[in-house]
Amino acid sequence: MRAYNFCAGPAALPTAVLEKAQAEMLNWHGKGLSIMEMSHRSKDYVAVAEKAEADLRKLMNIPENYKVLFLQGGASLQFSAIPLNLLGKNSKADYIHTGIWSEKATKEAKRYGDINVIEAGTTVDGKMAISDQSTWNLSDDAAYVHYADNETIGGIQFANIPVTDKPLVADFSSSILSAPLDVSKFGLIYAGAQKNIGPAGLTLVIVREDLLDQSKAEIPSILKYADQAKNDSMVNTPSTYAWYLSGLVFEWLLEQGGVDAIYKANMEKAELLYGYIDSSDFYANPIAKPNRSIMNVPFTLANPELEKQFLKEAEENHLLNLAGHRSVGGMRASIYNAVPLEGVQALVKFMDDFAKRNA
Ligand SMILES: *Cc1c(COP(=O)(O)O)cnc(C)c1O
Repeated sequence: MRAYNFCAGPAALPTAVLEKAQAEMLNWHGKGLSIMEMSHRSKDYVAVAEKAEADLRKLMNIPENYKVLFLQGGASLQFSAIPLNLLGKNSKADYIHTGIWSEKATKEAKRYGDINVIEAGTTVDGKMAISDQSTWNLSDDAAYVHYADNETIGGIQFANIPVTDKPLVADFSSSILSAPLDVSKFGLIYAGAQKNIGPAGLTLVIVREDLLDQSKAEIPSILKYADQAKNDSMVNTPSTYAWYLSGLVFEWLLEQGGVDAIYKANMEKAELLYGYIDSSDFYANPIAKPNRSIMNVPFTLANPELEKQFLKEAEENHLLNLAGHRSVGGMRASIYNAVPLEGVQALVKFMDDFAKRNA
C-alpha cells in the first residue's frame, strides 16, 4: 500500500501521476523508448515540454509578457541567479526576512549587491507573525523587493502580497499552485519543483520580460534568464524527466478542476488539522492565525519526550515524515496538493488517539 507522506520535500506526488509515468516508462507513446532516453531537441520531447508550459500558463493564468523558464539548481541557485540577473543596472534590493529561506536568499544576494534587510518577524499574543507592511522600511530606489511567500520550515506564510511599485520577486517553492495567485503583481516568481510540483531537479522561474535586460556582465549564460528565454530553457540539456513528470502533475491539476479547486481542497485539509490542534491541549502550533501556512503545519507535543514515540507510532500507521526540520525540532505535517484529505483525516485520527493514550 501507499503510505500518507507528509514530507516537506521532496514531497508526495499524486498516485495517478506516478501510475501514468510507470505505464509510460519503458515505451513512451509506442515509440519504443523511455522519455528519459530521448533527445531534449527531438520533436516528441519538445512537444512534451511545450505542453507542460502551456498547461502551467493555463493553471496560473500567466500573462503573455512573462517568460516561463524550466531550470536546474533548485530554488537555492536562484538565490544567486536573481541578483546576478536583476542587479546589473541598480545594485540595491530590499529583502524581507520572515524565516530561514528568506534569510538564505539574503545571504547570497549580499554577495552581489547592496541589500536592505527588512525584519518582518513579530509576535502577536505570543505567536509568531509577519508584521504589517506599514512598519517596514522599504527603500525608494531598490531594483526589486524580495520575499518568501511561505516559509516551509517555520510554517509561516504571508496573508497578503506586499504592495510596492518596485518589481516584486518571490520564492514560492512550497506554495506555488496551492492557491489562486495574480501573477501580474510580480516581477518574478520562482519555485523548486520538489515541494508542490514534481520531482527534484527542476526549478521554475516566471519572469516579466522587461526584467530580462538588467543582468550583470559576468553572469554565466546558464543562469542568465535572457539566454534561457531565447533558448526555450535549453541553453544546455534540461532536467528532461522532471520536466515531463511536472507536466503530468499539471495535467492532473487541470483534471482536479485547476487551482481554484485545489485551493478549496487545501483549505479543507488545513482547517481540519489546525482546528484539531487548536481544540487540543496536547498539541500546539506556534503561528498567529492570519500567517499560518496552508502547506506546512508545524506542531509541538505538550511533552517533547513523547516525540520519538509519536514518530514511531505514526510510521507504524503509514503516516510518514512528520519530524520537524532539524533546525527547529517538533513536528511538521506538509500537506501539499498531492496529499489527499483522507491523509489528513488519518493523521488527525492518529493524533487524537495518541493524545488520549498519553495524556
Ligand atoms: C525547499 C525550499 C528552498 C530550497 O530549495 P532547493 O530546491 O533545495 O534549493 C528555498 N525556498 C523555500 C521556500 C523552500 O521551501
